[in-house]
Amino acid sequence: MRRTIYTDEHEQFRTLIRSLVQSEVVPHYPDWEAAGAVPKSFYRRLGELGVLGIRVPEEYGGAGVTDLRFSAVIAEELARAAVGFGGVRVHTDIVLPYLLDCASPDQLARYLPGFVSGETMTSIAITEPGTGSDMASIRTSARREGDTYVLNGAKTFITGGANSDLFLVVCRTSRAEGDRRGGLSILLVEADSPGFAVGRMLRKVGLHAQDTVELSFTDVAVPAANLLGEEGRAFEYLTGNLAQERLSIAFAACAAAEAAIEVTRRYVSERRVFGEPLSDFQNTKFVLADCHAETSAARALVDRCLASDADGDLTPVEAATAKLFCTEVQGRVVDRCVQLHGGYGYMVEYPIARLYADARVSRIYGGTSEVMRSVIAKAL
Ligand SMILES: Cc1cc2nc3c(=O)[nH]c(=O)nc-3n(C[C@H](O)[C@H](O)[C@H](O)COP(=O)(O)OP(=O)(O)OC[C@H]3O[C@@H](n4cnc5c(N)ncnc54)[C@H](O)[C@@H]3O)c2cc1C
Repeated sequence: MRRTIYTDEHEQFRTLIRSLVQSEVVPHYPDWEAAGAVPKSFYRRLGELGVLGIRVPEEYGGAGVTDLRFSAVIAEELARAAVGFGGVRVHTDIVLPYLLDCASPDQLARYLPGFVSGETMTSIAITEPGTGSDMASIRTSARREGDTYVLNGAKTFITGGANSDLFLVVCRTSRAEGDRRGGLSILLVEADSPGFAVGRMLRKVGLHAQDTVELSFTDVAVPAANLLGEEGRAFEYLTGNLAQERLSIAFAACAAAEAAIEVTRRYVSERRVFGEPLSDFQNTKFVLADCHAETSAARALVDRCLASDADGDLTPVEAATAKLFCTEVQGRVVDRCVQLHGGYGYMVEYPIARLYADARVSRIYGGTSEVMRSVIAKAL
């Protein structure tokens, strides 16, 4: 299908990322998976190449791009090689918009240069052991004492947390009767703050080179100057920023489905069963045709949303629709592609096995498919 969202600049960037992935990611990926994280030195390498600062304003060392198309190019190239950049997508696509929308000039000057260079990697900590989809139930609390907040609580499933230097921590700063969503705030917590601890690295079904951790806060004294935006408005900030986060998951899911079809197309033309190439069986052709049709629909939808995002008018409902549709397509497509690989599809050295394991979480994080349906249903 003809695509119209990219310019020559995006295609030149694609060439850079493709060669970076082949030379500096693919050879090391098994080691990164075994370690459960991308090394910090690689984040600094991405910083040197300007990858982390694409959407950061020029005055802080970035390129000042405002939309997500360069991120989409990265997602397509990573999916093509069935690898990942660890916590980078959270850093560039999810955390950055909060900083740009809500941080004070002092906070921007303090954190953005390191954000761009990879010296200051970032994570966002919303989810708690007892609270995921229902963000209004957050229990991590911060009480104001003079010019500090005293932070207590625990977070879980935090992407990039083992290597991050700065955490956007969503916590309760007050409780208003009858307003569950009020009273939540975001604090910028530095990793070396006394009382802050990164807990165990969680073992996951997929995304093995992306660290996911628990965090704990015991009487952490956070300077009041580290409040992001205004006190009590976190829920509004969270819902306001979810559209780009969800679009980012949608385009990664679509790219992964396309990559799964491509590796499977190659596999079935090489594999012979009952004396014939697997690709000659009508079932193989029909399954791949179905995968292609569904993925093409996902591609059309996600490219339309990327274009809306570039025009600055992507709506939360459009983003939820794209996330729901693309991640569900990804799930169906990778599953069928594993089936066409037979037993080899279950072997981790085959890219389809990694695409399969990495796919499952797309329907869960960034809001589950059920939450996406609720968002869409409310608008109908
Ligand atoms: C690999 C990974 C990385 C993550 N990274 C981060 C991160 O960096 N930062 C962070 O803060 N969080 C992160 N998360 C957390 C993620 O956002 C949550 O797991 C997700 O929001 C779901 O919350 P939960 O796990 O508590 O599930 P629950 O909310 O307990 O959901 C359980 C089930 O109930 C369903 N459900 C919930 N509400 C409704 C409803 N209203 N109607 C119908 N069904 C409903 C859900 O769809 C689901 O099927 C990550 C999770 C994973 C797995």
